[in-house]
Amino acid sequence: MKIAIVGAGVVGITTAHELAEAGHAVTVFEKNGAASESSSFANGGIHCNSFTLPLSAATFAGSKLRRFWQHTRQMSHSHWAAPSNFRWLWARSSAAEAERVSAIQTYGQQLARLGMEVTDQLISHHQWEVEQSEGQLILLSNEAELNRHAARLQFLKDAEQSFRLLDREELEAHEPALHGADSVFKAIYLPGDRVMNCRQFSILVKQAAQRNGVDFQFDTEITGLHAQGKPQIRLKSGDTESFDHVVICTESLPSEDVLKTGLQATTAQIDSYALSVAIREPLNAPRSALQDCKAGITIARIGKRLRVCGGAELNKSGADEHDKRVVNKLFRTLDQYFPGAANYPAGTQIWRGSRTFTLDGLPLVGSAGLPGVWLNLAHGANGWTLATASARLLSEQITGHSTSLPSEALSPQRFIR
Ligand SMILES: Cc1cc2nc3c(=O)[nH]c(=O)nc-3n(C[C@H](O)[C@H](O)[C@H](O)COP(=O)(O)OP(=O)(O)OC[C@H]3O[C@@H](n4cnc5c(N)ncnc54)[C@H](O)[C@@H]3O)c2cc1C
Repeated sequence: MKIAIVGAGVVGITTAHELAEAGHAVTVFEKNGAASESSSFANGGIHCNSFTLPLSAATFAGSKLRRFWQHTRQMSHSHWAAPSNFRWLWARSSAAEAERVSAIQTYGQQLARLGMEVTDQLISHHQWEVEQSEGQLILLSNEAELNRHAARLQFLKDAEQSFRLLDREELEAHEPALHGADSVFKAIYLPGDRVMNCRQFSILVKQAAQRNGVDFQFDTEITGLHAQGKPQIRLKSGDTESFDHVVICTESLPSEDVLKTGLQATTAQIDSYALSVAIREPLNAPRSALQDCKAGITIARIGKRLRVCGGAELNKSGADEHDKRVVNKLFRTLDQYFPGAANYPAGTQIWRGSRTFTLDGLPLVGSAGLPGVWLNLAHGANGWTLATASARLLSEQITGHSTSLPSEALSPQRFIR
């Protein structure tokens, strides 16, 4: 079959690769001049098998009002009270009922595990060398934080995923470069999580897909999609082209004038910052990834650089100015935990990236509700972790094979009443 993919981030590239492997003729349309220049550009790099990243689904418990307050407090720019933001946060809190949260966490972990398996198969098949390190630490500052993680730890136990609770001494032995461990009450060590360079991986997959016949058309923006009969895409140049299937991998939903899905109100965009700095002294740097649970900040070692991510600006895309308070906090957190690790003069990059979140935190993967039109987007906090899994599930659906995991939980139709 002749298939178009819109978007060449890690999700579009891995989807193209899967579909080409299944024997289809695939063309990828990307508005930027190169691959993985948008959300996949400088993300936190954490391949999070445990599904515990900040802003992940299934984070909060308690009454609806309590959950609403917790969700709201995560947002660093307090214009949450704008009516559409307020409505979205309230709807997200409503969707996070205990029973549903448990199902999402369990499914999210299965999906993450599938993602890691598929990623590992690709790496070992092609014998790629991808920058990576093993394990993630979650630093907890007090007993209340540990109690808030009780449900998560139970999920990990139920899923037979290993973790260890470290006291300060064990933490120091485990991450010797860590300073300020006296402000840490305990840490959760997750050996199944890891750090891996997303951009490097996606470029390797792109090259493999090209060798497999996938045609990448860069600087080519899609401005319209008609789905009567065979789906037809319209390019910015005015040209149109028909395909048997079109898969939208644009991270956020296309605007309603490009594709009417009826899903706009169920998603929101949250921007976060990523600081990338060269490592000055490897012995002063973390061995792998850690997360300051209270601050919602992750620090990861990616090859010869450190990546520090944090902040959460709800529906602020398009704002030019960086929030200096958030950016300064990233610098301060890195220097607090790993003084002397960064070589700022040798190269420091500050980047703001956007993530699209659904009400339940799981992505939209499946039929868009129009013949031949499919979505694979809105991966929220875990897009890098889940990319190869959602690509596999979507390719299986298009090809008509049984899916590696049940796919109903990801269907975009779950939000359409
Ligand atoms: C600060 C930050 C930290 C993160 N940390 C982690 C982490 O530690 N672990 C994790 O698992 N995930 C993390 N993520 C999430 C992860 O990076 C994203 O979910 C993932 O990269 C999304 O990939 P994508 O391919 O869907 O989107 P993108 O990489 O944004 O790709 C979408 C592409 O579609 C193109 N496009 C859009 N519209 C059109 C159009 N009309 N025509 C043609 N092309 C179009 C865009 O130009 C873009 O290249 C983080 C994200 C951010 C922002």
